[in-house]
Amino acid sequence: MNTRILYVEDDAFVARMAKRRLESDGFEVTIADDGNTGLDLGKSGDFDIILLDHMLPGMSGVEILKQLSPGETPVVMVSGSSELSVVVEAMRMGAADYVIKETDGSYLDLLPRTVNRVLAHMRLVEAKREADERIAKQAEIIQGVLDNMDPGITLFDQKMTLVSYNDRFIELFDLPRDLVVEGVGLMDMLQHMAKNDEFNRDNMEEEIAARFDLFSAGKTFRMDHPRPNGIVIEIRGAPMPGGEFIASYTDITDRKKMEEDLRRLATTDPLTGVNNRRRYTEISERELTRCKRYQHPICVLMLDADHFKNVNDTYGHEAGDRVLKALANACIGELRDVDVLGRFGGEEFTVTLPETPLETALEAAERLRARLASTAVELEDGETISFTVSIGASCLSAPDEGLTDLLNRADAALYTAKEEGRNRVVAN
Ligand code: GH3
Ligand code: MG
Ligand code: MG
Repeated sequence: MNTRILYVEDDAFVARMAKRRLESDGFEVTIADDGNTGLDLGKSGDFDIILLDHMLPGMSGVEILKQLSPGETPVVMVSGSSELSVVVEAMRMGAADYVIKETDGSYLDLLPRTVNRVLAHMRLVEAKREADERIAKQAEIIQGVLDNMDPGITLFDQKMTLVSYNDRFIELFDLPRDLVVEGVGLMDMLQHMAKNDEFNRDNMEEEIAARFDLFSAGKTFRMDHPRPNGIVIEIRGAPMPGGEFIASYTDITDRKKMEEDLRRLATTDPLTGVNNRRRYTEISERELTRCKRYQHPICVLMLDADHFKNVNDTYGHEAGDRVLKALANACIGELRDVDVLGRFGGEEFTVTLPETPLETALEAAERLRARLASTAVELEDGETISFTVSIGASCLSAPDEGLTDLLNRADAALYTAKEEGRNRVVAN
């Protein structure tokens, strides 16, 4: 469709000349020859642009301009050279441009050019407005996505200023809402977190600086952040193509606990809580290798409850379990931290004593035996059970011996202890 121009001009000659010039450029031109008609047509919305003379019968051009909304249909003032002050006022009121009617008629060529320029500008403004609307809508959608995500999210610009975030982030760290706003610096947030004991008190400044550096380095990272309330938050950071840095925060407390439970299940005996056979063997192998390397002594004890079948038969299996727990606890109490205790199976326990010559190991075994023999296990009904153990001991005697060799010799000694009447320590 052609561009429709309304030209409000009372001078019939000027109007005719302008109309002809504009129509030769393909514009569609309607003339209004007095102020009131001009205003009515101008308000109709039927025109793409209005050219407006000032000196008009009925109503002046500036009057008309006042009553139109120049934001919608652009208005170009077309006035005589004696009316410069009018032009200034019209421009102030929102006229898009002006053309001075030079008496030589040269302005006629200016008209189509001005119309085209004003319309091109209008289209640009419109396109920008649409783009801004689209961007605002996208931002709204992104914020909606962020607010409905389970992980907390923060987006920082290159100066480590907060650009975007979601509520979950604020909740996860119990941060005050008036602190976490667009434009706040990462350092300010870290300082606040430090006040909440989120960083180690003894090493606070270093930890804050390290965290700041981690974010501002702009490299992908993953770390655990244990909170003072016991919650563990996994922080993942990644650079964005636009130079920003995005970080996500996930509550992994349950996962950590599950991992810990699994690890414990895989390494400890559920009844007594001491190392299971696999874990005992693993640690003992390591200790054996270490002692061999430094040519230090190392011993193992194999310990078996005496006539344990009788305990079960007399007091029941549950009482037997209680005795096994008491036995393990007494061992823990008697042994050094460096000693390795494991439940080898049933009512049989093993102990590895690193850095210990046979003589010392036998003393330790004897102390252990005596302590266990004097341990009374109280049952639920108040009755107490006493029990004894037999212990076989062996010490590393050749550099090529493995843990199995030591355990076999200790087991043979244990067998001897049983044969010789139980409740005793025998070395092999
Ligand atoms: P010895 O002095 O020759 O070692 O006699 P013992 O009765 O201790 O030996 P035996 O190997 O005949 O019996 C071991 C008993 O230990 C039998 C088994 O039911 C019991 N036992 C093994 N594991 C457990 C356990 O986890 N709980 C309970 N209550 N008893 C167990
Ligand atoms: Mg036994
Ligand atoms: Mg046994």
